[in-house]
Amino acid sequence: MIADNIKAIQEQLGDAKLVVVSKYRTISELKEVYDCGIRDMGENRVQHLMDRYEALPKDIRWHMIGHLQTNKVKYIAPFIALIHSVDSVKLLNEINRQAAINQRTIPLLLQMHISDEDTKSGLDAKGLEEIIQLAVYGKNIWPNVEIQGLMGMASLTENSEKVQNEFRRLKNVFEQIKRDHNQNLPHFNILSMGMSSDYRVAILEGSNLVRIGSAIFSTN
Ligand SMILES: *Cc1c(COP(=O)(O)O)cnc(C)c1O
Repeated sequence: MIADNIKAIQEQLGDAKLVVVSKYRTISELKEVYDCGIRDMGENRVQHLMDRYEALPKDIRWHMIGHLQTNKVKYIAPFIALIHSVDSVKLLNEINRQAAINQRTIPLLLQMHISDEDTKSGLDAKGLEEIIQLAVYGKNIWPNVEIQGLMGMASLTENSEKVQNEFRRLKNVFEQIKRDHNQNLPHFNILSMGMSSDYRVAILEGSNLVRIGSAIFSTN
């Protein structure tokens, strides 16, 4: 069942990469996902990342996709493959600090607020610009992080035109940053957008990484 779902989704992704969102799932379900060849898995809670990292094979690349508190960065810094949800200078400073302590570079995405939902997570255009300016002109202030792109979540709505417009806006911001700063941000290549309900729209709008959970584990 899981294998069939993964296969059906992969056939629609083209070159986009699939991160299987493992939240709420059992270790045995995740082993099944692993046996399908999936090596990228995502979680939105630090504690769950730590538990699963311990319990599952070490060649899985773990993605942090949920809101990350500064004081919890230290727990995932040794092993995290990509943090999708960076939305403040303070958090960037701490990721850089913990990466240095672990003698590594931590790849991350900047999360932009694109929906009309009133959540606290995600940068607005101004906050995003501020971080890009610091990264580009700030005299290498974050030597142990690699800003690899953007992440965004569209509104939860049946209105696919609205979802499409939100993704399109994120894609435009992504392209503009790439164009303006490709010298200074050579690794800025990932556009993380699309989940179970909207990944088809996201792919059409230029996503190259989707984060999918429920569509893989549903039984119908
Ligand atoms: C849960 C979650 C997903 C996956 O959602 P599904 O609807 O289960 O595919 C993707 N991204 C984030 C940030 C999430 O929290």
